[in-house]
Amino acid sequence: MKRTAILGGGIAGVTAAWQLARRGNTDFTLFESRGRLGGTVETVQRDGFTIECGPDGWVTEKPWARAMAEELGLADELIASKDETRKTYVMTPGGLVAMPDGMRMMVPTSLASLESSELFTADAKAAYARELASAEVLKAAAPSEDESVASFVLRHFGPEVLAKIGAPLLNGVFGGDVETLSVRAVMAGFVAMEREHGSLIAALQAKLAVAPAGRRPASIFTGLRGGTGALVDRMVAEIPGENVRLNTQVTAISRRDGAWIVATAAGEEAFDALLLATPAHVTSALLRPVSPRMAELTTMEASSAVVAALAFDEHFELPPGFGFLAPAGQGSQLLAGTFVDQKFPDRAPEGKRLLRAFFGSAAAERLAPLPDEEIAELALAEMESIVGKLPVPVFSVVRRWPKSLPQYAVGHLERMAELDSLVAAEPGLWLLGNGYRGVGLPDLIRDARAAADAVIA
Ligand SMILES: Cc1cc2nc3c(=O)[nH]c(=O)nc-3n(C[C@H](O)[C@H](O)[C@H](O)COP(=O)(O)OP(=O)(O)OC[C@H]3O[C@@H](n4cnc5c(N)ncnc54)[C@H](O)[C@@H]3O)c2cc1C
Repeated sequence: MKRTAILGGGIAGVTAAWQLARRGNTDFTLFESRGRLGGTVETVQRDGFTIECGPDGWVTEKPWARAMAEELGLADELIASKDETRKTYVMTPGGLVAMPDGMRMMVPTSLASLESSELFTADAKAAYARELASAEVLKAAAPSEDESVASFVLRHFGPEVLAKIGAPLLNGVFGGDVETLSVRAVMAGFVAMEREHGSLIAALQAKLAVAPAGRRPASIFTGLRGGTGALVDRMVAEIPGENVRLNTQVTAISRRDGAWIVATAAGEEAFDALLLATPAHVTSALLRPVSPRMAELTTMEASSAVVAALAFDEHFELPPGFGFLAPAGQGSQLLAGTFVDQKFPDRAPEGKRLLRAFFGSAAAERLAPLPDEEIAELALAEMESIVGKLPVPVFSVVRRWPKSLPQYAVGHLERMAELDSLVAAEPGLWLLGNGYRGVGLPDLIRDARAAADAVIA
């Protein structure tokens, strides 16, 4: 029987293992260096609070996480974000200011919604109006090559929109710097809109005009009542225990006599197929002796995150909405804050509150060595400086996610195309995880299931 090794037990590796287990008739081993599966996906249940330590849901538009949740018997557990009060605030010197209604990231669906907004100066509003009026020019000038997110947003909307919402929106998802991030890899939809319509505002308006009238749009985010950790728990329950090696770090891989050799402290084992679902920097190091070029192509910057969830025993007023972004230069160490119980239902018991502070990049690196209590205290102080005095939390949960958000730099798609062709030339090799074709749970699930199916085929 064909033997498969899966390296890394994050959502990508666990999904691949689950898919192999349910298809049956294959022998596989999942190697995970830590004592638990799920990687960045982790939910803590405590005193009636549901605390997401990593992802708190997924983008509804992408169907693959929902489909898997349904197959895992979690259909009744699916929850929609509370979009009736969906608002995101931006920290400004004058306090929190709501993003105008109807924005898709940094693109408004109508100029009218911007008029009363206090977020943007007259200059930025004029830049938005200019973008809509310059559709033909923008279409004619659409670059044929990849460019940075910063350059793309600057061409359309100018520096204020980039600094106030473009940069903080992307930093929280893709880690790193808008000056480096590839627009084609992380905002492919907007690039296609530019090609077709020139103006992104015009493109969104055209899309809305053809959307079926009267249908209530689905919520923007989908989650699980028991947290995203339920996906992992359900899958793990269906993966035979003897196929999983926890606390087992893979130290090297090699190719010998047509087999893949996986080395751990316990020795070497041979496999027919190898699914590398380790973080890109680990994958890169493992691949170096096999293929220096593959190692080069998987070398990418990755930024760290630190999250601190603060649970409160009492209710207090917060601005209605999902939370806020803290742009660089506003004096906060936070990248973002989530009003968790206002974003998803059932995250906190009735009359109680749950907040989550998100530190990214440099702040996360700086804080990571500190003890949990100090990080929680700092998170509380930073939150208070933005939303006002808060009660003392009844408890807090802190997690460090080092190098967890890989940066898709300019040229990423071309590098991945080359990587794909090199991988395809190595029989039995697959690369999974968030370094290559998307960082969100739906993308990772789609790819992992497809790879497992291909292994069996
Ligand atoms: C704070 C935060 C919030 C996020 N929020 C969202 C969200 O709301 N929605 C969304 O869709 N996405 C979100 N993401 C992104 C998403 O969570 C990640 O992209 C995804 O979970 C990564 O999964 P993975 O399997 O690729 O990698 P990981 O989860 O990093 O798993 C890799 C695993 O490999 C193991 N490993 C490493 N080295 C070795 C080795 N040598 N041998 C064996 N095992 C090894 C690690 O221990 C780890 O368990 C968020 C990410 C972060 C950090």
